[in-house]
Formats: sequence, C-alpha cells, structure tokens
Amino acid sequence: MGTPIIIAIDGFSSSGKSTMARRLASRIGYRYIDSGAMYRAVTLYALEAGLITSDGTIDEDSLVTALPHLQIDFEPQADGTQHTMLNGIDVEDEIRRLRVSNAVSPVAAIPAVRHALVDMQKEMGKTKGIVMDGRDIGTVVFPQAELKIYVDATAETRAQRRFKEMVEKGAQVSYEDILANVVHRDHIDTTRSESPLRRADDAISLDNSRMTIEEQDEWLLNQFKRVTGQ
Ligand code: C5P
Repeated sequence: MGTPIIIAIDGFSSSGKSTMARRLASRIGYRYIDSGAMYRAVTLYALEAGLITSDGTIDEDSLVTALPHLQIDFEPQADGTQHTMLNGIDVEDEIRRLRVSNAVSPVAAIPAVRHALVDMQKEMGKTKGIVMDGRDIGTVVFPQAELKIYVDATAETRAQRRFKEMVEKGAQVSYEDILANVVHRDHIDTTRSESPLRRADDAISLDNSRMTIEEQDEWLLNQFKRVTGQ
C-alpha cells in the first residue's frame, strides 16, 4: 500500500483511540503500538517491586534505576490482538486492572520514565508503517508523523465505555469509581509539566461520542487514504 507512513493517535483515556488504532493497523497491514500499555507495564513493575506505597508515594530513584532492565514487547496472538510482555511474561490482563489504572498517571508523569519509553517508541517507528496511540505521540514521539488524530469525548461517555468493557470481562467495579479514575487521570495527564496531553497544531480532531466503531473505522480509513493519496 504505497510508501509507509506514521500515524499518531492521541487523546484522553478510554476515548476509544486504541480500538480505532488497532483496527486501522490490521486493515492496512501496519504495526500497532499501544504506548499506554508501556506506561502500564512500568507501573505494574513498580507495584510488584513495592516501589509504590499505599499512600501513592513512588520510590522514583529505584524505579529509574530499574528502567534499563525492563524489556517491553508486544506478542501477536492467534485472534489478531497482541499481548503486552514485561521481561518475557504476559502481563496483558494485569495491566488493565484498576490497581494499575489508579497508579499509572503519576508514574507516567516522571520525566525519566517518559524519556526511556519515548526512546523505545521512536525506535519502533524507525521503519514507519506504524499506528501508535497515546497522549504525546503527535507532539513528542513523532512530531513528523504524516497523519495525526486527536480523539475527544466527554468524561462520562468514556467512563461508560470503560465500565461496560470491564463488566463484560467479569470485573466487579462501580461506574462511579471508573468515572473518578477517568477524571483524575485526565487532570494529571493534561497538567503534568513533562509533555502534557495536548492536541498537536496539525492534528485532526475527532469527537467520537456518537459514532459507532464502524463509522470511526470508515472515517479513519478515509483520512489515511487522503494523506497517502490512495
Ligand atoms: O492509554 P491508557 O489509558 O492505557 O494509558 C494509561 C496511562 O498512561 C494514561 O492515563 C497516561 O497517564 C499514560 N500515558 C502517557 N503517555 C502516553 C500513553 C499513556 O502518559 N503516550
């Protein structure tokens, strides 16, 4: 499909950007990278290693020392999805739990953590042909990306989606807890000093609150075709 490009999809948590990004990548034969999963994997490591106390204090020095020893990969599955691997162990289920969701944004606000993961992400994009989603992909990781999308939807819509997703997976969660987590993460993600979430000047905005997945697929594929001239 022509010369490969880089597609950066940014937005708030649970905006549906990962689903859009994954589906587009599989349709056009690109590699999909969920950068949020990488921050979640580092957070899981910190929790398991006892580097985050119950009051949320992070032992930043120990975490930063451990960073070079953390290997994060994505392993393709037979069903077309991919699982996040931390030092060779499948942590896909663990990193999606509320325990990690509640702890991830402060970990992602640590500059040394961001630098390490951004370097890994840049490396992954070297050969192009990649769709990456996150918070700073169009602004920091790939400012030169040929196609940048900024996905937006209200906190309530996003919490509703995450709630439904978790209930379907059998998790015992309350909508209020999920909404509180979404609002809290939005706040940290937009106000942190190191690469806060913001729309890149050349990104195209999409409010998908009232769109079906199929409509989003169609919209995104059209953007891809427009940029690549196909
Ligand atoms: O996308 P997801 O909600 O799984 O990301 C988890 C957390 O990781 C976000 O709330 C955000 O704090 C952080 N993140 C980030 N930069 C990215 C991707 C995720 O800071 N590129």
